[in-house]
Amino acid sequence: MIDCSRMTGIQVDPDQRIVRAQPGVLIRDLDRETQALGLAVPGGFISSTGLAGLTLGGGFGYLSRRCGLTVDNLISVDLVTADGDRVRASDDQNAELFWGLKGGGGNFGVASSFEFRLHDLGPTVLAGPVVHDFDDAPEVLRQVSRVFESLPESVSCLPVLRYAPPAPFIPEQYHGRLILLLAMIHTGDPEAGESALAPLRLIGRPLADAVGPKPYCAFQAMFDKTAAHGARNYWKGHYLDELNDGAIDALCAQAARMPSKESSIGMLSLGGAVSRKQDTDSPYPHRSAQWVLNIQARWREMAEDRTHIDWARATFESVDPHATGGVYVNFLSEDEGEARVRAAYGEDTHSRLVALKRQWDPENRFHLNQNIRPGGS
Ligand SMILES: Cc1cc2nc3c(=O)[nH]c(=O)nc-3n(C[C@H](O)[C@H](O)[C@H](O)COP(=O)(O)OP(=O)(O)OC[C@H]3O[C@@H](n4cnc5c(N)ncnc54)[C@H](O)[C@@H]3O)c2cc1C
Repeated sequence: MIDCSRMTGIQVDPDQRIVRAQPGVLIRDLDRETQALGLAVPGGFISSTGLAGLTLGGGFGYLSRRCGLTVDNLISVDLVTADGDRVRASDDQNAELFWGLKGGGGNFGVASSFEFRLHDLGPTVLAGPVVHDFDDAPEVLRQVSRVFESLPESVSCLPVLRYAPPAPFIPEQYHGRLILLLAMIHTGDPEAGESALAPLRLIGRPLADAVGPKPYCAFQAMFDKTAAHGARNYWKGHYLDELNDGAIDALCAQAARMPSKESSIGMLSLGGAVSRKQDTDSPYPHRSAQWVLNIQARWREMAEDRTHIDWARATFESVDPHATGGVYVNFLSEDEGEARVRAAYGEDTHSRLVALKRQWDPENRFHLNQNIRPGGS
C-alpha cells in the first residue's frame, strides 16, 4: 500500500480560479482553503472523504447539479505510472489517460497532484435539514420527487431514511425513532435561496426545519458523525432515473426493517450539470440518472455481520426493478466482483478502459482496487 495521507498540500489561485491539491487532502481540507476565498470544487457530502479516491471514481455531492461532477472540473492530474515514470494528464497531454482518470479509479498509476477549476460559492449558503415523521415518509418522498422536476439546478437535496440522532433541532420525543431527513441546500445567488428551497420546505408537516444561512463547510460536515471511524460497514448502491412509487415503497418498507440504529438509506439528487455532459466524456456513464441511492449498513459487533449485510442486500434487491442497473464505482463493496465493475462502466467504456490499462499497466501492478484487468475479463 502506498500511503499518501501526509501529502496534504493545497494551493488556491483565485486569479486563475484554480486549485491544486495533493492526494492526502480530505474534502474538508479542500473546502476550508477554497471557501476562505468564497470558492469551491464539487466534492462528497461527508467531509472526511479523501479527495483522491473520490475524484478518481467521478465524485458527486451537493454542488454537482450546479457545477457537475468533481471530474467535470478536473484540469490535470500528475501521475506516477507502473514503470515509475512521472507524467501529466490533461486535455492536451496524454488525453486518453486523462479521460481514464476521470472515473477509472486507481488503475493507471498513483496520482500525486490534482488541478481543479473553481466555482463561486457562499461561503454562507442557505441550507439545512428538514425532518419528517417516518409515517409520512412515502408521501413526502413522492412530493419531493414531483417538485424536483421544476427546481433550479442550484437546489440539491439528500433525503435520508434513518433513526433520529439526539440533535438539538429534532424534538426530544423523536430521538432514536425512524425519521425521514431532507438535507437541502441552495448553492446559487443567496437572494434567490428562500424562494428556491420553499417548494421542498413546504411539503407535508415537518417535525423540524433547521434550514438557515450557514457556512457551506458546516453543512458539508453535517453527516460526519454518522460516518466516523470505528464501525463495521457494508454498502450497496443503485442509480435511479426517477424516484418512482415502487422505489419509494420498497425503500420505506426496508427502512422499517433496518436492524441497526446506525444504518441509513440516502438518495442524492443528481441531474442538472451532471446530465449535460456526454456519457463518453469520462468513464462515468450514468449521466442521465436523476438520483443515486446509497444503502449503508453500519453496526458494531462482528457476530452481527450476517444480519446487517443481509438487510443491505435485501434492500438492494427490492429496489432493483426500479433502478438503472448501473452502479457508482466508488459505492461498490469488496465482494461485488467483476460483473459489477463492468456494470459501473458499461461494456463500451469498460473496453476503452481495458485498452488504456494495457497501455499504462499491462502487468496489472495496480490491482487492489475496482480492477480493470489488462486482459479484459
Ligand atoms: C463516509 C463516506 C461518504 C462518501 N460520500 C461520497 C460522496 O458524497 N460522493 C462521492 O462521490 N463518493 C462518496 N464516497 C465514496 C468515496 O468516493 C470512495 O470511498 C473513495 O474511494 C474515497 O477515496 P479515499 O481517497 O478516501 O479512499 P482510499 O481508501 O484512500 O482510496 C480508495 C481507492 O482509491 C484509489 N486511490 C486513492 N488515492 C489514490 C491515488 N493517489 N492515486 C491512485 N489511486 C488512488 C485506490 O485504488 C484506493 O484503493 C463516500 C465514502 C465514504 C466512506
